[in-house]
Amino acid sequence: MKLASARLVIGHLYPDLLNIYGDRGNVLALRRRAAWRGVGDVEVRAYTVGDVLDFGDVDLICMGGGEDRKQVLAAEDLRTRRDPLEAAVAGGLPVVAVCGSYQLLGAYYQLSDGSRLEGAGIFDAYTVAGQQRLVGNVVVDSPLFGSLVGFENHAGQTFLGPGCDPLGHVVVGGGNNGRDGGEGAVRGFCVGTYMHGSLLPKNPALSDWLLLAALRRRYGEGLDWPALDDAAEERAHAAAVRRAHETARGRA
Ligand code: GLN
Repeated sequence: MKLASARLVIGHLYPDLLNIYGDRGNVLALRRRAAWRGVGDVEVRAYTVGDVLDFGDVDLICMGGGEDRKQVLAAEDLRTRRDPLEAAVAGGLPVVAVCGSYQLLGAYYQLSDGSRLEGAGIFDAYTVAGQQRLVGNVVVDSPLFGSLVGFENHAGQTFLGPGCDPLGHVVVGGGNNGRDGGEGAVRGFCVGTYMHGSLLPKNPALSDWLLLAALRRRYGEGLDWPALDDAAEERAHAAAVRRAHETARGRA
């Protein structure tokens, strides 16, 4: 199948509430990489609280991070979408959720005052606000994607149950909770992570995995999938990894 006749709809959830540290860059990277590959029609649709959203109309979901009080608003809305989102993820819908939205895809996020923000329960995970924020550059070794790099800033500490795997193991940084060495979560094609950055522009393997999953879900196997020249992305990745190691050494 020729990509020129393919269509890709990226759903950007809560861009007005959850969008810090350049998380919007994830949407831009996906859109660009799809266009560079020759996907004929790439559309980004923004959805926020109260909007009609049929998960059958979108091919990929992107969600960013945000402050606790914005998460309260997003969580309320997301809970109303729990069943259709669960069905879509179980059916292979690719999702990338960063930090605040990663937390909201778990069972709950317990805020520092002890109150609990109920999540959508897509990940077998829960989050509890810790005393200290985990802040800094992160390098992760991922079995699916190799080296990943980003920037974290979160009070929440996330703990995974057996229903999902970590995205990878922390090489530099705090990751899910600063204790068990895990970073992020993967269930099917749904990925949660604490890595802002933006994450996807300098981690093209993850971008392509999401894009391929989205297109295969709609068009099946046998897509033309030309390699891209990722020299610039690889340089950005290497520079961010170098910086992460330098800042880690500086702190030691
Ligand atoms: N408010 C959440 C926390 O502090 C998420 C922050 C974020 O998205 N960077 O854990």
